Amino acid sequence: MTKKRRNRGRAKGAKGHAELVQCDGCGGWVPRDKAIRVTRTVSPVDPQLERELAKKGTAILKTTVVKNYCVKCAVYMGLRSQRAREERKQKEFY
Ligand SMILES: [Zn+2]
Repeated sequence: MTKKRRNRGRAKGAKGHAELVQCDGCGGWVPRDKAIRVTRTVSPVDPQLERELAKKGTAILKTTVVKNYCVKCAVYMGLRSQRAREERKQKEFY
């Protein structure tokens, strides 16, 4: 069988099975090793208000949000993009 990618688009290896996580974009279920995981710091305060408070020297606690996306949603959101054949099939480093 022809392979499109060296790792078949996943990081599973010979593990056999990986647990599923739910995509935060569309709600579909994706294997955890295939899902695109994004960590962002989110502020609970409105950006304009935050700027004013920062000027006055107020410390604002920011929370970290971790989100899982399926490949389809990651491409749609611009987190991943299509790559050329040569770029997909990278040579092994050794
Ligand atoms: Zn999705």
